[in-house]
Amino acid sequence: MEGLLAIAIAAAAMTAIVAVRYLLTSGLFAFATSRARPGLYQGLNPQIRREIGWSLASAAIYGIPAGIVAWGWQQHGWTQIYTQWDAMPLWYLPLSVFLYMFAHDTWFYWSHRFMHRPKWFKIAHAVHHASRPPTAWAAMSFHPWEALTGAIVVPLLVFVIPIHVAMLGSVLAIMTIMGVTNHMGWDMFPRWLVHSRLGSWLITASHHQRHHDEYLCNFGLYFRFWDRLCGTDRGLSRR
Ligand SMILES: [Zn+2]
Ligand SMILES: [Zn+2]
Repeated sequence: MEGLLAIAIAAAAMTAIVAVRYLLTSGLFAFATSRARPGLYQGLNPQIRREIGWSLASAAIYGIPAGIVAWGWQQHGWTQIYTQWDAMPLWYLPLSVFLYMFAHDTWFYWSHRFMHRPKWFKIAHAVHHASRPPTAWAAMSFHPWEALTGAIVVPLLVFVIPIHVAMLGSVLAIMTIMGVTNHMGWDMFPRWLVHSRLGSWLITASHHQRHHDEYLCNFGLYFRFWDRLCGTDRGLSRR
């Protein structure tokens, strides 16, 4: 009984953390947008209210499995998360971040393509595409089915791929910031980077914007590897 209560508290705490993280990050970049591109979100208030509603519902779907796994890690030593800096070689620290991002990107690419089949699009993915154009508030604007496909990824990966707790924090920070900035409607990265060789493998706002404009291309999350390999990369938005 006590165990159940502790799990419920961990799940509720993690839900609150995810919700606050979303509100702060999206709020910050929405504010930046109002400065960098005044009027870009003009007339979008009803849509923004819907984006915030779906995103807060997603916070619970993300928070519950994360809370359960965090509880199991603390109480029972579940997961491959480590805290000692010398538990693994130092070169593994950046590699672990890349492995998490690549695994997440791979899962996202294929589940995302699947959700663009007409039947599943209506059930799970139409909510996300109701943002036209998306704003910084659309980062977690998912139907609960889609939120579930995203919420299980990191809680499962921590059982399989060892990672230092600080690197896990970095993965979650990158995930949060890219999720927001890729929807905010303008590229915060300098043009020389976006149009560089490295940039041609990375997904930024102008790449994901094109997915929201044209639907059947640019399915990736962080990297353009799968899009390029599978011929679904249409490059950057012309806007
Ligand atoms: Zn999107
Ligand atoms: Zn889509």
